[in-house]
Amino acid sequence: MDPFGRKIDYLRISVTDRCNERCLYCMPEGYKGWENKPDHLTAEEIVRVVRVAAGLGFRKFRLTGGEPLVRGDVPEIVRAMTAIPGVECIGLSTNGMKLSAFAKPLREAGLRTVNVSLDALDPAIYHRITGGDVARVLAGIRAAVDAGFERVKLNCVLMRGVNEAEIWPLVLFAAEHGLPLRLIELMPLTTTEVLTEKNFMPCGEAMQWLSRHDELIPQPDCRLGHGPAKYFLLKQTGAMVGFVGALTNEHFCDNCNKMRLTADGKVRPCLGNHVEVDLRAALRSGANDGALKELLETALRVKPLEHQFRNQYQPCRPMTAIGG
Ligand code: SAM
Ligand code: SF4
Repeated sequence: MDPFGRKIDYLRISVTDRCNERCLYCMPEGYKGWENKPDHLTAEEIVRVVRVAAGLGFRKFRLTGGEPLVRGDVPEIVRAMTAIPGVECIGLSTNGMKLSAFAKPLREAGLRTVNVSLDALDPAIYHRITGGDVARVLAGIRAAVDAGFERVKLNCVLMRGVNEAEIWPLVLFAAEHGLPLRLIELMPLTTTEVLTEKNFMPCGEAMQWLSRHDELIPQPDCRLGHGPAKYFLLKQTGAMVGFVGALTNEHFCDNCNKMRLTADGKVRPCLGNHVEVDLRAALRSGANDGALKELLETALRVKPLEHQFRNQYQPCRPMTAIGG
């Protein structure tokens, strides 16, 4: 429990700050602010933190980044995590570029769910946003479906003037393949050119836009995963669409259940707050599990009530370094 009575049992772990794409809202072109690789936690260190966290009551884990699959040892990390008592569910967030090759080994290692970022289907728009190749991502999504994950979800960040015309094609794609689609409001996580009022598209506007094409039926009891999305079933198309409105939903943080572990070993109790607790120093100076547990408990104690995104929040380091 945190000081506000919220049960915190979900840890999102950034395994690297590196990425093979450069999304406009996350890591702009030309970004060179990589951390030193030796500063990243090793697989053994990550697994040790997971073991201590599971002992504290954490049950759900997600590997993310940066792009987690640029790091070749993710299946080994997953395999070691699944053997830890208390670890109930391990998921992965990926841009999908390397998913074709990794889907099967990840599933065999015990990974249960995969979230794939897909901001556009149109190859040129996709490339403009991410610098990547949408054909590779679509092949990765197919491979994930074939590998038999319990759930494959699609994530799309809403940007007015950039990908709004892609929302409807994405809904049709999601419906056709039976994959939930989450539409996510831009958050000020990295200072970039798209983080302007002009580009910010509230979830409410996306809902209005979709309701011109289809009827949105609220699914108040739908929990597809452990996140804060509010789901709607689209009556005609059959698509399940979730909205993640960190900026416009005043109650966004009410049921927060998570903390983050950055690639360089800091526990970050809230994405939208600069507070961090350093685990890496302890890990590398011979601390025992009891000391690590105390640091995790400290992080739980200082978890803020809500994010600071609405209060002129200035990101201190880019999203890739924190872990999405
Ligand atoms: N590379 C992987 C990916 O793209 O899915 C995992 C890491 S990424 C940082 C995790 C999620 O954060 C992605 O769905 C991405 O779209 C989202 N994200 C990154 N920057 C964001 C921003 N400024 N606002 C909203 N979502 C953002
Ligand atoms: Fe890379 Fe994911 Fe950030 Fe895009 S959102 S730059 S794919 S870490």
